[in-house]
Amino acid sequence: MRKVYVAGNWKMNLIDEIQPLKEFSKDIKNDIEVIVFPPFTHLQKYGEILKGSKVKVGAQNVFYEEKGAYTGEISYRFLQEFGCEYVILGHSERRNIFRESDELVSLKIKKILSSSIKPILCVGEREEERSLNKQKFVVENQLKISLGGIENNFKNIIIAYEPVWAIGTGKNASPYDAQEMHSFIREQLSSLFGKKISYDISILYGGSVNEENVKDLFREDDVDGVLVGGASLKCDKFIKIVEIVDKSLI
Ligand code: PEP
Repeated sequence: MRKVYVAGNWKMNLIDEIQPLKEFSKDIKNDIEVIVFPPFTHLQKYGEILKGSKVKVGAQNVFYEEKGAYTGEISYRFLQEFGCEYVILGHSERRNIFRESDELVSLKIKKILSSSIKPILCVGEREEERSLNKQKFVVENQLKISLGGIENNFKNIIIAYEPVWAIGTGKNASPYDAQEMHSFIREQLSSLFGKKISYDISILYGGSVNEENVKDLFREDDVDGVLVGGASLKCDKFIKIVEIVDKSLI
């Protein structure tokens, strides 16, 4: 049985309140992993506030070395100190603004898989790539390079399909297009790691998810949860998304 995730990527933002989410999480009926991803500087604070609740804390990035002369970088060892259980890797903003390559993402994933932290690997095509019908080619390459050579701890890998044109635009992928890509991703995972492992890896959808579209997206067979940006910044909206996913499972 694949795990279901509702993850909130705050990016370089803080939110006004978290207590209502912590309270609400007591009423979650199903086995859903709810995770928030604050900026590095606030991991400790939110880690402490959410301790003992069903809401987990994750980081938005990590470096692949444990310590040393890497100005501005953060090691997984520091993340563990803050109680982080998850890290987002290869987000399109890291790829596009900070020029992170698939090769760099691959180094990070391998390091993280040697720890207890679970990586959420983001993949997805740009608008012009989809308009040329190259979306599968792009995602296949991202997966092959980022995940190639991984030999163990496959069960900790989580994938997020985040079409770049859908991020922060209010234009989500249709449930049909999301399912088509998620099932393609599962096929790629199967050729990399085998059928059984590919079946167990959760694939989240991200890109303009909100309380109106989450139900239809989550209904698709290979959509195992959502990675939410903008709508996770308002606690009441994020709670609604978690609630809809929870109710869909009953
Ligand atoms: C994201 O940045 O991971 C994301 C999905 O953003 P949004 O929900 O705002 O499109």
